[in-house]
Amino acid sequence: MAKTFKNFIGGAWVAPATGQHIENRNPADPADLIGRFPDSGRVDVEAAVRSARRGFEVWSRTPAPARGDVLRRVGDLLTARKDAIAAAATREMGKVLAETRGDVQEGIDTAYYAATEGRRLFGHTVPSELRSKWAMSYRRPIGIAGLITPFNFPLAIPTWKMFPALLCGNAVIIKPSEDVPHTTHLLVEILLEAGLPPEVVQLVHGRGATAGKALVEHPGVPVVSFTGSTATGSFIGETCGRMHKRLSLEMGGKNAMIVMDDADLDLALDGVLWGAFGTTGQRCTATSRLLLHRKVHDRFLRRLVEAANALRLGDGLDGKTDVGPLIHEAARQKVERYVRIGLEQGAELLCGGRRGTGARLGKGWFYRPTVFAGVKPSHRIAREEIFGPVLSVIRISGFEEAVRINNGVRYGLSSALYTRNVNLAFEGMQRLDNGITYINAPTIGAEAHLPFGGVKQTGNGHREGGWEVYDFYSETKVCYVDYSGTLQRAQIDNYRG
Ligand code: NAD
Repeated sequence: MAKTFKNFIGGAWVAPATGQHIENRNPADPADLIGRFPDSGRVDVEAAVRSARRGFEVWSRTPAPARGDVLRRVGDLLTARKDAIAAAATREMGKVLAETRGDVQEGIDTAYYAATEGRRLFGHTVPSELRSKWAMSYRRPIGIAGLITPFNFPLAIPTWKMFPALLCGNAVIIKPSEDVPHTTHLLVEILLEAGLPPEVVQLVHGRGATAGKALVEHPGVPVVSFTGSTATGSFIGETCGRMHKRLSLEMGGKNAMIVMDDADLDLALDGVLWGAFGTTGQRCTATSRLLLHRKVHDRFLRRLVEAANALRLGDGLDGKTDVGPLIHEAARQKVERYVRIGLEQGAELLCGGRRGTGARLGKGWFYRPTVFAGVKPSHRIAREEIFGPVLSVIRISGFEEAVRINNGVRYGLSSALYTRNVNLAFEGMQRLDNGITYINAPTIGAEAHLPFGGVKQTGNGHREGGWEVYDFYSETKVCYVDYSGTLQRAQIDNYRG
């Protein structure tokens, strides 16, 4: 019988107060029940906040280098268990093992980066405008961070949020996606094993509309970090705005790859296949628009369709699989809806456009890699996030048109430009309106030690990863020490006399 999992609240593994659970099933074969996870409610969130307050008292006074040491041990344990965690993540999320191993590696990199940040967390010391006066800033913890994560990176995204939040001295409450709860369970076990004081972390499983909403609305949670769809992010943004909470939003994308007529087409082909169909198109950075220069359009498209048709669908645990299933039936139905919309608006379906069938694929939520040509920038499949293996190809006449089309959507996460012209590459870096631009590489592939995030309706100005995320999870405090022994008035008694 499948195991019934618990929340981690108040320093112990506990059943949800609701008594309810959510089944977690393998998207490649829904008959495979991974476990039952808590369907928590407001009472569970209340208990988590009460405990996290105690955790914060202890952890915020622990020296940052010591906090970093815990995260170094977390990195070591993740390294030791990389394969086991990747297998668990593939089983509940669907993407192929090579990708979930990458997902865990991102967590390892994030842990080691955080460990060393414990010996930096720089403030500034600057000259005062007054004599015999010292002026400096330092960074201090904020309190309890409420973290809400999506399904597509079951390990990496929780670590992007938890590790910097913890390093900065905050207590954390994580509400992982109800579609991939097992991976976060394994991560919390590792945090505890690495020596994190138990009440510093709380794991509250459950649905967004109940557990997630209660966490966002709780007045005892001053910091919220959310990754997920733009629709959910808007909702969370309204609540946090009203309650004056610090909020980081990482949301949807509609990422374009531009292939110019001087591009290395072999390289671009590898790039677009990986960008569009890796993770079954379920990446915030997935390539969902291909802007193809008219001079290479027809021959590139022929090769693309041939290669997309050759991709092997299957269970991500099978080493021969290129493309796994979608996360659930609702996601597949959304893809089907958009394929119908594409056809109705006059785009030409070149491959895919149907479910995976047969004994091997019929059980799971499989959908064939799909390519539409003849797409206009105004078509809905060129503007809206589908979050599946669907690529919309738009014919372009030149760079200016490519920039206009790339920038003409409400999202702004990543873009890719394939060209051998160095001047054009630098133009692209400046003018493509995204948080990330890749030259001669696909729209996916962020590295853990660089800031990650998007502009426009993809984000709200904060970044995850790299050095910038540490600003989000810490409060800057400024201290002045006047050792002159006299009252010195700033702006009045300064050196100007
Ligand atoms: P989602 O918005 O459905 O859910 C994300 C999380 O929010 C889940 O944990 C869910 O339970 C929770 N949630 C839902 N409603 C809530 C509410 N009312 N209050 C509080 N929490 C709530 O997203 P998803 O389907 O899990 O993930 C796919 C989306 O995530 C895509 O739009 C994708 O582009 C985006 N994404 C963005 C990034 C990025 O960094 N920009 C990274 C990965 C995924």
